[in-house]
Formats: sequence, structure tokens, C-alpha cells
Amino acid sequence: MNQLICSKCRTTYTLNEPIWRCPQCGSMLDLDFTPIFDLIKINGRPHNLWRYREAIPIERDGSIISFDEGFTPLLEVLFQGRSVWVKQDHLFPTGSYKDRGATVLISKMNELGIRRCVEDSSGNAGCAVAAYCARAGIACDIYVPHDTAQAKLAQIQLYGAGLVRVPGTREDTAAAVMQAAQSQYYASHSWNPFFFQGTKTYAYEVCEQLGWRAPDVVILPVGNGTLLLGAQIGFAELHRAGLTQHEPRLVAVQSENCAPLAQAWAENLAEIPAIHKKDTLAEGIAIAAPIRGRQIVQAVRQSGGEFITVSDGEVKAALRSLCARGYYVEPTAAATAAGVEKYLVNHPRSELIVSVFTGSGLKATEKMLALL
Ligand SMILES: *Cc1c(COP(=O)(O)O)cnc(C)c1O
Ligand SMILES: [Zn+2]
Repeated sequence: MNQLICSKCRTTYTLNEPIWRCPQCGSMLDLDFTPIFDLIKINGRPHNLWRYREAIPIERDGSIISFDEGFTPLLEVLFQGRSVWVKQDHLFPTGSYKDRGATVLISKMNELGIRRCVEDSSGNAGCAVAAYCARAGIACDIYVPHDTAQAKLAQIQLYGAGLVRVPGTREDTAAAVMQAAQSQYYASHSWNPFFFQGTKTYAYEVCEQLGWRAPDVVILPVGNGTLLLGAQIGFAELHRAGLTQHEPRLVAVQSENCAPLAQAWAENLAEIPAIHKKDTLAEGIAIAAPIRGRQIVQAVRQSGGEFITVSDGEVKAALRSLCARGYYVEPTAAATAAGVEKYLVNHPRSELIVSVFTGSGLKATEKMLALL
């Protein structure tokens, strides 16, 4: 049945209620939805993520807010002489894969008649929400930490969003937006279940581009887990629909300077530990207290996957190596590549491995210049 369901008290709601968390108990909502895959229809459509139209829970075509995004190239990239297939998600309209989530979430908001919203972000989710709100004519305020990269601040403001710079940490920004979300719709990439209905298209595209085959292993970055949890949903849906033979193992990459989930996984903890977070080049995945943390660890565990942590030194080396081969990605995206390098060291050659470049280097000019 298609419905929203509270992750804690299990109360259910229709998909047409303008809520982003459970009105009863305040907990996260998940989305229960049965997708339809009609390969004849899919094949006949343009190469963007809306080709999977019947698998995305938007009722009316007229609600859709899109820049024809998605179906990014799946390129073969060599790491240590071994081939890894990498989705080029730094090529999205706003420069990161967050557009997958934003096109679906903002379309849903448009369908619900929501005319203003708030969102918080270390940068890229704010850029994506601001761009899609601009296209929809929805007003938004984006809350960011005071040290957010200049290019991302420019992008958010030029899209016409209100910019709220919050002193202190990323966690202080999350607390500030929560206050604002008492009275406004929260277009949150971590709370809002419709965002994950967009990021799941990563899995659809990967499997279609491999000839409707699931990879053995998928290596993804994890902070709030918006790509990893979306991918998990997508791979599970394809498997359930009989389009693929298995679900891939999910390998999650964190920065060792901020790795609460890797620690929970390694120490088999039931709760996500409070950690002391240090600065890292991989700012986009430096999330000390991810609200879906337990879901993420469970998804990795159930898939038979693992966590890998990478140091800033390894991120820097991976970034230099990628740039030298023509891939201009931001440091956070290079963290995933550093994770791929580590993964390859003790796993067999025969595996079909897929990964991702999540964000464009053009967004991080200060950090890129510092490499020279
Ligand atoms: C958002 C983001 C990530 C990681 O996403 P989470 O949702 O926090 O797991 C990775 N790379 C880039 C460039 C991002 O913008
Ligand atoms: Zn509830």
C-alpha cells in the first residue's frame, strides 16, 4: 500500500499530507510504495531519471519540476589497473547528485501546494533545493554553516533563495533550521522521505546501464546517507520486481575525522555513538549525528557490506590522481575514490564494482587551489 509510515510509532499517513515527520510522535517517516517498471515505456522515454515515471510517487505529470536531469554516464575508471564503473553524478545541473532528491521532493511539494520551505545543508543539498524551488516558484530559506564554500553560497543566493549563515558547527545549523521548521515545511534531504524516492534512481540507472544487471558491490560516500539509503531502496525494488538477480553489497565510505557510523558498525553498537568530530577536507560527509544513522548501519549490514574510513591525506592523494586523469571533482567526492582504492586491496578481481563521483570540483575552488 502506498503510504507514509512512522519509523517509531508506526502510525500511517497518506502520501498527500504535507508533513515531513510524524505529527503524533515527531519521529522520522518512511515511505511504503510499490513501484511499477514497464520496460517498454522506460525504453521509449528520454534519457533522464523521469523515464522511471511509474516508479516515482508523484501523482500528476503536471506537478513535475525537472531540468531533464539524470541518466548520468556510467564510465569505466581504472583504479590500480582494475576497472570500476563510476556514475558521473558531478555532472548534474547544480553540480551534485543531490538533484536526484530535489527533483522528486520539490515536485511533491509543488503537488501539495506548498509555497515556501526551509532546508539546511553543508552546501550541495542547499544548492539543489534552491535551484528546483526557483524553477517551481517556491520560496525557500537555506541554512548553512558559516564556513560553507564560497561557490555554494553564490549558487544558493543567485538562485534567489534566502541564505541564513549559522555560526558554529554543522550541528548548530541543523538545530537552527529545526526551530524554523516548527512553522514551515522542511525540505530536508535527511528527514524527508520523498528525497530518497529521488536518490533511489541512482540504482535504477546503474542496473539499466549494465543491461538490467545488479553490480556485486557498490561503493558510496556516507554522511546523512541520502545516496546510500536511496540506492538501497532502488536496488531492493528492482530485485523484488524481478529485474535483477540479487542486491549488491553496500560499501560505505566515511572520513576518519568524522566516522560515527563506521564506529557503530565496527563495534557492533546498537546506537550511534557521540563522537568528537575533527575538520576534514571531505566536508560534505562530515555529519556527526546523522538522523538515519541506525537505518544506514542496518542497510550496510543486511547487504553483507562494510564501512571504510579514509584520512585527509588519502582524500588529497585520490583527488590529485582523479584530476590528473581529467575528473574534476570536489574533495568530498574524492573521499569515495580513496575508499575504492582501499577496498580493492583485499577483494578479488572478479567483482563487478560500481561507485560514484558525487560533486563537481568547480564548487570547491578554495580547497582545489590549496592543492597546488
Ligand atoms: C551530500 C554529499 C555526499 C554524501 O551524502 P550524504 O547524504 O550526507 O550521505 C557526498 N558527496 C557530496 C559531494 C555531497 O554533496
Ligand atoms: Zn510516530
